[in-house]
Amino acid sequence: MSIYQKYDLKQIINASGKMTVLGGSAVDESVARAMFEAAQDYVDIQELMVKAGEIIAKVTTAEDGCPTVGAAAGIAISTAALIVGTNLSLIEQLPHSDGLKNEIIIQKGHLVNFGAPIAQMIRLGGGKIVEVGQVNHVAKDHILDAISEKTAAIFYVKSHHTVQKGMLSTAEVIEIGREKNIPVVIDAAAEEDVKPYIQQGANLVIFSGSKALNGPTSGFICGQKELIEACRMQYKGIGRAMKVGKEQIMGLITALETKKDEAKNVQEQLQKAQWIVEQFKNIPGVSASVVPDEAGRKIFRAQLKFDEQKLKISTYEIIKQLEEGEPAIFTRNYYANLGMISIDLRPLLPGQEKIVVNRLKEILKVQ
Ligand SMILES: *Cc1c(COP(=O)(O)O)cnc(C)c1O
Repeated sequence: MSIYQKYDLKQIINASGKMTVLGGSAVDESVARAMFEAAQDYVDIQELMVKAGEIIAKVTTAEDGCPTVGAAAGIAISTAALIVGTNLSLIEQLPHSDGLKNEIIIQKGHLVNFGAPIAQMIRLGGGKIVEVGQVNHVAKDHILDAISEKTAAIFYVKSHHTVQKGMLSTAEVIEIGREKNIPVVIDAAAEEDVKPYIQQGANLVIFSGSKALNGPTSGFICGQKELIEACRMQYKGIGRAMKVGKEQIMGLITALETKKDEAKNVQEQLQKAQWIVEQFKNIPGVSASVVPDEAGRKIFRAQLKFDEQKLKISTYEIIKQLEEGEPAIFTRNYYANLGMISIDLRPLLPGQEKIVVNRLKEILKVQ
């Protein structure tokens, strides 16, 4: 029995993704063991922060890194760092930043909600949002026209949540930043890797520890040394409300050091996805296929398309029954309106794909 069931909480099978509402990631034994050991002793937190930074730097190819409690905290802390730097009095004054260079430029199609609004995390760090362009169209000039002597940074959200067309690319925005000498921060929370953005020349990149990395509830900011130093300093200010514990930092470090190779990761997903497709091969009313991620990440999922007439059940009813069953099964339902659900293989524990397939067949009354 899992620890959650001891408290009468329902058992969950997560076939949806690295969702905060379902607990983010289930970590490997090595990560859990690091957290278990870390919790039972003391450490100089400042020293641990700096050591974690070295490890983040090594893995990401950035100059330095700063652990956070999540990517959302990373947004607030990096914004704060860009506005007040290492000035203690100003750090203590945040989130009030009137009179400071506090404007954060962001493309309109990037102002999304990831569970909470991006804009709110920026404001928490003292940022004043300057939206540019339209929801489905932003030109280089929109950014250039918005730059003023109050601009602190350009904030870029690289995410499946954002509008996927009509926005400027990371390379284009980093180029503008370089031309105008304005730092560019990239929120790459749920991407597969931060290295491409560091190599393109982003000043800071934010990442979540509990998504692609399969780490504990945690995150980090990586990038230029002096900016990361300023990020660490924010723990004397607004960062204190987002305190990252020694257990989380040790879990994060271990997840970084034992990070699975991407090719192996993809291969495991493809194998499971193909197995699921096989199970629905001769079932009338269901067409199954392996599909790549809609936002271009190296993720492959099993997608099931239902012929609702033939099966005499709606896709929403299928989802409802999956979620109300025991265990409760959560699939990826962004295309439910088109009669489709996807099964994300990454968060499944060993063997759970069989439970998902059996339950689906039971609901569809097929064999
Ligand atoms: C998930 C997500 C976040 C928040 O990450 P946490 O680690 O859960 O705090 C921020 N930005 C984007 C784009 C995300 O997808």
